[in-house]
Amino acid sequence: MRGEGWKARRDALAWARSIIPLFEARLFLEKVLGLSRVALMAHDELPLSESEREAFETLVVRRAAGEPVAYLLGQREFYGRTYRVTPDVLIPRPETELLVELALERADAGSRVLDLGTGSGAVAVSLALEKPDAEVTAVDLSPAALAVARSNAQALGARVGFLQGSWYGPVPLPARFDLIVSNPPYVAPGDPHLAEGDLRFEPSSALVGQDDGLGDIRFIVHGAANRLAPGGWLLFEHGYDQGRACRDLLTAAGFTEVQTWPDLAGMDRVSGGACGQPPLTRKS
Ligand code: GLN
Repeated sequence: MRGEGWKARRDALAWARSIIPLFEARLFLEKVLGLSRVALMAHDELPLSESEREAFETLVVRRAAGEPVAYLLGQREFYGRTYRVTPDVLIPRPETELLVELALERADAGSRVLDLGTGSGAVAVSLALEKPDAEVTAVDLSPAALAVARSNAQALGARVGFLQGSWYGPVPLPARFDLIVSNPPYVAPGDPHLAEGDLRFEPSSALVGQDDGLGDIRFIVHGAANRLAPGGWLLFEHGYDQGRACRDLLTAAGFTEVQTWPDLAGMDRVSGGACGQPPLTRKS
């Protein structure tokens, strides 16, 4: 599998594309050489140094064995910004941008926002940067994930307060948030998708929900009323087949304006509701 016998950048790409997609090979070569796409293509006859060649080969071989591109590159784009990611955090997904959009529609300048299970921090940092006067708090159980989230907040200049612990555990009472958001683990234990693609390499604590997969969502919904200001919103991501169950949980917990929103693929992806009586005015 090793790329014996090549010297130039273009030979390296020709070798790599026989085992992984060409666009991924280009990303790895750009990373190794520290070059943009344009600079790489402009001089693809130039040779690689021995260490560049080794680094490139390693990335290609690891990718061929299934490791996610985002972990190999150490980064992923989310809501227009680049986030550092490591195997300690879930890789931010495009469908989670829906959660950010719905939260932004409901956040005001001074909103107090809580992000539960922040992982890479992508949701909390996006909200803090889009609403710079909002007071954003982000919680995660994993100290390693929090270190990644902190580094993202710092690198992107976002003002986010971080707390380590389980869901509402580290949030002091009486906390009154205007908005609680979460992309919790919600995949059912034993779901065959866990043995496919990127999910094999992601932290199961970020993927697999308690009980039937909905255990963490149940916990988040039940605890939200105590933490939300009247009229505050809870919004969370869930699986494509969990919309109905999530709306039932929200309704049973006394939420109003309960709704599920589809992602760009048309799949149920985010549900939420308002705490108690609907406020007199709400931004649409
Ligand atoms: N959307 C992810 C997937 O199934 C799961 C993310 C999560 O559990 N929060 O690929």
